[in-house]
Amino acid sequence: MEYSEVKTMLGKMPKAELGFFPTPFYKLGHLSKELGVNLYIKRDDFTGMNLFGGNKVRKLQYLIGDALSQGCEYVFTFGATQSNHAMQTVSVCRRCGLKPVLYLVAIVEPDQEDMRSNLLLDQIMGAEIHIVNMLPGEEEADAEKRSVCMAREHMKRLEAEGHKCYEVPMGGASPIGSVGFIEGFGEMMEQAIQVIGKEPDYIFHATGTGGTMAGLLAGRALLDSQVPVISINVSWKDPGYPGRCGDLANESLKLLGMAPLIDGIRDSRIDPNYYQPGYEIPNEEASKAICLLAKKEGLLIDPVYTGKAFAGMLDYIRTGKVKQGSNVVFLHTGGATALFAEKEILGNLF
Ligand SMILES: *Cc1c(COP(=O)(O)O)cnc(C)c1O
Repeated sequence: MEYSEVKTMLGKMPKAELGFFPTPFYKLGHLSKELGVNLYIKRDDFTGMNLFGGNKVRKLQYLIGDALSQGCEYVFTFGATQSNHAMQTVSVCRRCGLKPVLYLVAIVEPDQEDMRSNLLLDQIMGAEIHIVNMLPGEEEADAEKRSVCMAREHMKRLEAEGHKCYEVPMGGASPIGSVGFIEGFGEMMEQAIQVIGKEPDYIFHATGTGGTMAGLLAGRALLDSQVPVISINVSWKDPGYPGRCGDLANESLKLLGMAPLIDGIRDSRIDPNYYQPGYEIPNEEASKAICLLAKKEGLLIDPVYTGKAFAGMLDYIRTGKVKQGSNVVFLHTGGATALFAEKEILGNLF
């Protein structure tokens, strides 16, 4: 199918215009020379709407569009205390006159006297913030479930008083949210064909909740593209993850009136080898990747997501898994506010 046809289908979905698109796409000249490939970057850290954009804005355009079409007043969402998704959600809510409520799990406990990074921005924008501390020995996933239960109780109380609430899942990973990356994939391919003259040989990106990957895979299938999308994990995932992402992609396609096209196990290329020791815990390879990109190209990536994904991509290139001379695209999903987060999250950069 052509992207123009996909655009027509996307045009039938409720959407709030929140960011600045298309985001830039260009070649990283110095790094390309050093690595022996043609390395391009897709700047989804430039989505807006505030200075600190990222991949969540594409999803939020459709999610907030849905919330507005339902006449909601409050938007609830979830994440870690330094969640990029939560901060971007607060920003778009303010833009649209919606009231943002956050339930944030303190994987790294914030210092109330020295608020940093996204949590500071959430406060400046006046979000209602509920911090959910981890219980002794509790897994992150269990704390996340607990935060959702608390939020749903809260929503029930508000609804009983006549206030309509909208729930955005963690990372905006829902069928409606992932539609944003069907659009994102189409936009990126259109630019790649303009700049490179053909489809790239590889796309690399960081995967967390999987909503971005689901949308990319659905977009790729819709546009009959063969580009391998390599998704570098930023956290531990259970064996059901690829299948669930595939289901999510198919539900997004269904919203556009399309039949399922994705088999998550067959179509995803998820690499779990670069996130250790864990989510929001830095590693040396990611730190080196951050410094390399900063020094060679003046570009900032982050220790939690894009640094780990970029380190993974560098490893593929340096070990020859990606052949010399290939056209490689790195999807920059944002997150550089983490450079101003707690030291435990930042790690040792120099
Ligand atoms: C959320 C996020 C991701 C991962 O996106 P998912 O859709 O949750 O998989 C990648 N990079 C950054 C900077 C993010 O904030």
